[in-house]
Amino acid sequence: MQSPALSAVPLASKILLLALAYAVAGRLALMLAIAPGFVSAVFPPVGIALAAVLIWGYPMLAGVFLGSTLLNLSIGFSSLDQLSRHDLALASGIALGTSLSTLLGSWLIRRLVGFPTPLTSERSIFLLLFLGGPLACLISASVGTGALYLNQIVDAADVSFSWWTWWVGDSIGVLIATPLMFILFAEPRPLWRSRAGSVGLPLLISCAIMVLVFVRASEAEQHNLRQRFHEQAKMMSATLKFRFELYGKAAHSIERLFVASERVTREDFARFVANLPSAYPGITAVSWDPLIRAEQRAAFEAQVAAEGFASFRIYEHSALGEPIAAQQRDLYVPVTYVEPLAANAKALGFDVASKPLRRQALEQARDSAETVMTAPITLAQDNEAPQPSVLLLHAVYAGERPQDLEQRRRQLRGYAVAVLRLTDLIENALKAYPADSYSLQLEDVSETEPQQLYGQPEDNLPPYAAELVWQEKLTIGGRTLQLAISPTQAFLQRNHGLQPWAVLAGGLLLCSLLGGYLLTITGRADQVRHQVHRRTLELSAILENAAEGILIFDERGLIERANPASSQLFGYASAALLGRRIGSLIPHLHPCSSAMLDKQLRTPLEVGGTHAQGHELELEISLSSYELPGRHLYICMLRDISARKQVERLKSEFVATVSHELRTPLTSIKGSLGLLSAGAVGPLSEQAHGLVSIAQSNSERLVNLVNDILDVEKLESGHSRLQLSRTDLRPVLREALAHNQGYADGYQVSLSLDDSALPEQVPVRIDGLRLQQVLSNLIANAVKFSEPRSRVEISARVVDSQVRVQVLDHGAGIAEEFRERIFQKFAQADGSDSRRRGGTGLGLNICKTLIERMHGQIGYDSVVGQGSTFYFSLPLADG
Ligand code: ADP
Repeated sequence: MQSPALSAVPLASKILLLALAYAVAGRLALMLAIAPGFVSAVFPPVGIALAAVLIWGYPMLAGVFLGSTLLNLSIGFSSLDQLSRHDLALASGIALGTSLSTLLGSWLIRRLVGFPTPLTSERSIFLLLFLGGPLACLISASVGTGALYLNQIVDAADVSFSWWTWWVGDSIGVLIATPLMFILFAEPRPLWRSRAGSVGLPLLISCAIMVLVFVRASEAEQHNLRQRFHEQAKMMSATLKFRFELYGKAAHSIERLFVASERVTREDFARFVANLPSAYPGITAVSWDPLIRAEQRAAFEAQVAAEGFASFRIYEHSALGEPIAAQQRDLYVPVTYVEPLAANAKALGFDVASKPLRRQALEQARDSAETVMTAPITLAQDNEAPQPSVLLLHAVYAGERPQDLEQRRRQLRGYAVAVLRLTDLIENALKAYPADSYSLQLEDVSETEPQQLYGQPEDNLPPYAAELVWQEKLTIGGRTLQLAISPTQAFLQRNHGLQPWAVLAGGLLLCSLLGGYLLTITGRADQVRHQVHRRTLELSAILENAAEGILIFDERGLIERANPASSQLFGYASAALLGRRIGSLIPHLHPCSSAMLDKQLRTPLEVGGTHAQGHELELEISLSSYELPGRHLYICMLRDISARKQVERLKSEFVATVSHELRTPLTSIKGSLGLLSAGAVGPLSEQAHGLVSIAQSNSERLVNLVNDILDVEKLESGHSRLQLSRTDLRPVLREALAHNQGYADGYQVSLSLDDSALPEQVPVRIDGLRLQQVLSNLIANAVKFSEPRSRVEISARVVDSQVRVQVLDHGAGIAEEFRERIFQKFAQADGSDSRRRGGTGLGLNICKTLIERMHGQIGYDSVVGQGSTFYFSLPLADG
């Protein structure tokens, strides 16, 4: 499936875009790398690559390879013309590792998780991140580190560390960038888009915070490092300064020697300076270079020759650097006494004033009476391995200490000179500092063109180390020296802590866990949302399609929902029903109070309803209720029973008509049969008498049935109204006993009445005749179903404000399964026994109707095989 965001972009462009995104994200990630190892604690390109291959398919691997190669090439070189085949091999080796791990990760995810995936279950989230992250990145880390090792960029000792940091960076990169890519491009779009705010934003913000923390930690680390290095550099610089001052003092002390004595012999000089080189380590030579005027030259040369230096002459260097006898000049400053002599014999006789740089310094020393340093020179004694050297000069004057320039020029005797080979001096002075930890550069910047005294400018430093360089200007012997001390790679490696890296890696790992957690939460929320949506649809469908009307209303009786069946029933549009009072549709539910409604829950009721057009509806309703937080709602199921009622009415009318029509002929048949059997038309044969008797009893049953049917019909149709009047119950009971005594005798059943528990007066509001009918029916049933010679006991007592009358027999009892139907019309317990004993099955139904019309209740208890007790209770009339 294609993501709509990039579906229009052709494949080749997508590959190029991916390569570009990979390289750019890689460069950005490397900005977070900890120097000097160049390992980043997070490498999102791998996550981008994985997501791209999952979303747009395996051809994207080409983009991964290209992007990774580009990135790795760009790290090593600033320009393309430096690119070598070797570098290309290394870059593509690393890119191959990344492509392979992306391939493995996406293949495993497609197989075990499936893609596109909404990532809503914990299992799929965990599996996807694990397979694509820590597992697949084993390959990129291993191949990448292997390539670095084979190309000798990482040595064996560092392989495991390099592997570990690579693996951590790639894994975290996947854990963070893959979900973000999914949010941007993956299917199903609505779900992933909805996660932009709930997952993407918190993830980005937390990562940004982590990166900020990391930057702060790195800054602190960098600050510490700078402080450590600068402390060392400051001490080195102080040591150097001290050394120069010390050598200046050496020249000064020689000057003092010549001031103190008029004549200093070569031996005096040798003795005086014997201690100097050891007291001032690093010093090359000290010398006495007297001022010789042209006219003194010959005598001077002869005098020195006489001191044992036969070949002594004042010399200078030719243009080719060859020693030649000094040209004719007014003044010479030849090296005359020099110690240690052996190492510096070559310098003997060299006219220091013959070289402009030296002459300039000589004049400055003469005029200033201070120690003066020359610009860097090559020593006369140094023609094999020349190294930058300087002379520290101190003028020696004859007589009194000269006060002004003119006196100084006039009284000049010569110069005390300290010769310093700078390399020896510096290396000797800084012996105490680990040589591999710094690189030092000393320049003479007194003139416009600076001159190198020691070391080379360090241009190989990584940018972050540039700010660690210590720079200081030293003023020595009237010259300005620029000192620069930079840390070496070895120093940086030794001193760089891994703390900021660990902070970033740990923090980003937490961020990715947060991302996973947010995915889980949003996934679950989405599942729930889907389920709710489906269930709501199902419920709505049930409601919409239900054949029965359904109205949902609140405690105040206001309708909140109405289904199409109910709106059709009442003739309103569904919307018009909402907010309407239930009482306006079903007057029975008006006024609507929860107490009243709760009483009617679950019992089907037949009630009237009002149609929109004003006509009456006959309805059967049943109420149920449910709770919502803080609300109590009712569901009213409605069925239109107008048609059924109409049919019932027609049926009753029909039955009534038929019964009426039957009763008259039946009565006459019964009368005629009576006459026949009484012998009114002459004696009957035995056989004929038997037949007439059967016909007579059956016609009696028929009459009873027709009477009962008519009775029921009258009661139901309301044609028969009960005349309730306040009556004392006791006489009614006695009368019932008397009436049924004969019937009981016929069954050889003894009948008794126990009214002893009744008070004097038992006032009830009854229809006397109708109650008599009830009592007769119950007694007749009891007798009918009793065995001969058994007893039927009638008793009565007052319970609370009711009087309870019961008729007890010891007959067969009533099976429990018949209980449901016993008071229904035409109900008879199935069995030959019932049929044999005759009856219509209407008696108990009539009794129930009559008792309820008299505001009482009827019921029975029975144990099969032991007997039954039918009872009714009636409310006692007041007063
Ligand atoms: P019937 O005219 O058939 O008696 P009823 O409505 O009076 O009609 O009684 C219905 C049925 O209830 C009877 O047919 C019988 O099966 C059962 N029944 C009623 N009273 C008793 C009783 N006392 N003992 C056993 N069964 C009884």
